[in-house]
Amino acid sequence: MIVMKFGGSSVDSPESIARVVRIIRGQLHRRPVVVVSAMAKTTRRLLESAEAAAAGDLDLPTAWAIFEELRAFHESVGRAVVPPAGHPVLEAMLERYFGELRELLGRIARAGKVTPQLADAAASFGELVSSAILSLAIDSAMEGEGGLEAPWIDCRQVLITDDSFTRARPIYEETDRRLRQALLPHLQAGRVPVLGGYVGSTLDGVTTTLGKEGSDFSAAIVGAAIAAEEVQIWTDVEGMLTADPRCVPGARRIRTLSFDEALELACSGAKKPHYGTLGPASRGDVPIRILSSWHLHLGESHSHGIAEGTLIGRRDGAAPPGIKSIAWRPSSNRLSVWPLREEESFLSRVFEVCERFRPALLVLGASEREIELAVDRPDRLFEIRRALSGFAEIGLSRGRAVVSLVSEDLATHPGLVDLTMNLAARYEPRLVLQGVAAPCIRCLVDEEDAEAAVVDLHERLFGSAPGEPVP
Ligand code: ADP
Ligand code: MG
Repeated sequence: MIVMKFGGSSVDSPESIARVVRIIRGQLHRRPVVVVSAMAKTTRRLLESAEAAAAGDLDLPTAWAIFEELRAFHESVGRAVVPPAGHPVLEAMLERYFGELRELLGRIARAGKVTPQLADAAASFGELVSSAILSLAIDSAMEGEGGLEAPWIDCRQVLITDDSFTRARPIYEETDRRLRQALLPHLQAGRVPVLGGYVGSTLDGVTTTLGKEGSDFSAAIVGAAIAAEEVQIWTDVEGMLTADPRCVPGARRIRTLSFDEALELACSGAKKPHYGTLGPASRGDVPIRILSSWHLHLGESHSHGIAEGTLIGRRDGAAPPGIKSIAWRPSSNRLSVWPLREEESFLSRVFEVCERFRPALLVLGASEREIELAVDRPDRLFEIRRALSGFAEIGLSRGRAVVSLVSEDLATHPGLVDLTMNLAARYEPRLVLQGVAAPCIRCLVDEEDAEAAVVDLHERLFGSAPGEPVP
């Protein structure tokens, strides 16, 4: 069994959905469960419509304009990928969800504000509708091939979370039980279950979401629950790269990463995969593979090398030591913390707070007396200071961007540390042996220079010409 997760950019047009269906078809022998995000930009538009409804009364043009735009968009994509025989089912499904959304916007308008609970309710429609459309599309695409079925699974019935709306945490025991119960009989019968990512519900049935980019997280939760061989994350890049390609166009693919390296990168700003993904994957020892859904041949054969992507969780230990990747994040604030009183548990208490506020809070460096932290979420600063203030004295200064160079090899190869520290000398490099999860070298640069520093460091570490993938 495998889990195949498709991101928003992989399902944003009839052509993309057709490609996704072909990719799924190429993996049928591995018994896939499909997890899908909302179609590109839908989540943002849904939240904007909720804000617009709260700001005025329901006649406010923007809330309805967005509503109509989303409805028309999903209807046209749906009608293009589902053959005419399926249109009555498609229409009924759209009528139901957009009816519920209309009612919700009405409630938000009456409330006059978008509470986190209402925001989650609004945002959830993106995944509910995209997964329902994909399930209908796979169903019909497979009709000629012995009538393969792709039952739609309501993610709200199986992904059970606490009630921290907009960043809910799964209740694993209940979730695992429900996922196995809902998915295994379908898989055993040769069906391809499809469910939306990102969305769940509380035990009382109130809709929640796992937070931005939470669909990767959902896929890993599903993978761990059914002990999948692999969780495949299909996106618009050929794998994890040595830097964000939007900043470094010549970034290279990385062949393998440990769970810890991937978590470190995700928390250091790479944002791919979602940092939550690594917890369930590493606990269940389910490897994650990042792949591009834009190359048609991908997924059809790993043996040709073209479909290898990045494998997270089975690091190639035989490869020569080296930096794996560079990530960066703006840090609007820097905190220096000292113990309020002599206390042996100081370090561990600070790390506990870091873990609680992950990935907003990052350790920059630690000495015996002082720990330096970076916060890139000003909106959470108040909570973070409150959490630390019970046992620490806190100094606050305006932050600078933090550029992180990540590799497990930094812990075991002093030569690599020396070499990298020298290459990065002009950026105040510091070795952090215990980052969030893996060793890294963190550099501090002014925010406006961050992208140039990433480009420069990438060139020094990996050269300027696109080359072989990094092992
Ligand atoms: P999806 O819609 O499939 O969820 P995302 O847009 O969330 O995809 O994530 C993929 C994007 O992540 C890539 O297009 C790329 O710009 C960005 N990204 C940032 N850092 C990296 C990295 N180190 N390797 C690969 N992609 C990265
Ligand atoms: Mg995404």
